[in-house]
Amino acid sequence: MADGGKREGNLEQPLRHPVEWTKPDFFDAASLEKEMDRVFEICHGCRRCFSLCQAFPTLFDAIDDSEEGELDDVDKGALYPQVVDNCYLCDLCFMTKCPYVPPHEWGLDFPHLMLRAKAQRFKQGGFKFRDKLLTSTDLLGSIAGIPVVAQTVNFANNFGPTRKALEAVLGVDAEATLPPFHSNKLRHRLKNHVPAAVKVEPCNGTKGRVALFGTCYANNNMPELGEDLLAVLEHNGIPVRLTEKERCCGMPKLELGDLESVQEAKEANIPVLAALVDEGWDLIAPVPSCVLMFKMELPLLFPDDKDVKKVAAAFYDPFEYLMLRHKGGLLNTDFKKSLGKVIYHAPCHQRVQNIGLKTRDVLQLIPDTTVEAIERCSGHDGTYAVKKEFHASALKILRPVARKVTEAKADYYGSDCPIGGRHIAHNGIKDGTEATPPISLLRIAYGI
Ligand code: SF4
Ligand code: SF4
Repeated sequence: MADGGKREGNLEQPLRHPVEWTKPDFFDAASLEKEMDRVFEICHGCRRCFSLCQAFPTLFDAIDDSEEGELDDVDKGALYPQVVDNCYLCDLCFMTKCPYVPPHEWGLDFPHLMLRAKAQRFKQGGFKFRDKLLTSTDLLGSIAGIPVVAQTVNFANNFGPTRKALEAVLGVDAEATLPPFHSNKLRHRLKNHVPAAVKVEPCNGTKGRVALFGTCYANNNMPELGEDLLAVLEHNGIPVRLTEKERCCGMPKLELGDLESVQEAKEANIPVLAALVDEGWDLIAPVPSCVLMFKMELPLLFPDDKDVKKVAAAFYDPFEYLMLRHKGGLLNTDFKKSLGKVIYHAPCHQRVQNIGLKTRDVLQLIPDTTVEAIERCSGHDGTYAVKKEFHASALKILRPVARKVTEAKADYYGSDCPIGGRHIAHNGIKDGTEATPPISLLRIAYGI
């Protein structure tokens, strides 16, 4: 019990309220500042989140360095935007640390407060061209994925002088890892794929037929991730098809506070996905951030949209899906190859889905395989790590994760988030090895 006999919110299931971004108060600057004052004052007295990201140390250090050590003594006009910039909306503080989330009467939702501040600033034009460009993943993929252009972009992304120029002109850190672009995209690779004609077996809420939401990342930057997921599902007797079309799920635009672009993406994606659900397909994406967007963020942004709810209920993390099938006796456990020791990073956007460590649980079914999970932020977080002003903070957040991977001397390492995996390999381990996504590890173990 806490707070004069009232129960702390964390003793009950955290309750997330919808984001009231269509109400005028959401964009009222004075109302926002008042709420930031209230929440930052509570955080200043609590400090449980000091090690999660740079947003909290930025706030606490400024208060500690002020004359009286109180929030009222700091230069709020300078400090508050810095706190907001250092939040990349991973949701960890809300989901794993904060005792004051609803139903607690204080009703804190730190990430969504940061989202409100980002949205106000975006509406006032307070964003950089770089941030708009980096979050336009569909546009980047369609231009940089053109044959020849892809090779040129990939060359330039790995060429020191161009990276220095990119840093000077755009503020994209010269040392940050940028993803490769493919002209032979997932969509091209799977264009002739037809779902396997097998008996469909529903179990544990899964219908046993999967429509794959390719995601911009798998489509443009890592098509093999989508191919591996498809191969694993079909090896488990699950017919798979690609969704007819897709737009970016909107997560990068959410991070920017560009809620109108999030709405546009929702309006493009949801009718396609809802129709697939009506036809009897479950939905899966190979990137945790995109799953989170459909499962949790869109329903909070559009609480009255029935199709958003329908899509959210049918959306699964790949390993959550496989474990549900396993519990129903339908997972193929005829593994051909052991993996030895695996150390894997559970990304924030997967952890906050509240599904438990399903990736670890599935990989542990492979004979002679031990799996250790790292439940810490890798520090990549959307576009945070590639921005010049935040790259050093991203490396600081990454350090404990990279240390654990290095010390483990495992046979394989990787992350459910492919971008986080590259960040660990290229900015943390830096020995020329690559991270292997867990779904690809499963394919290796099946020998397919
Ligand atoms: S949502 Fe994540 S990045 Fe933002 S303040 Fe909370 S822990 Fe930090
Ligand atoms: S978000 Fe909650 S747990 Fe974190 S510092 Fe603030 S009050 Fe404490």
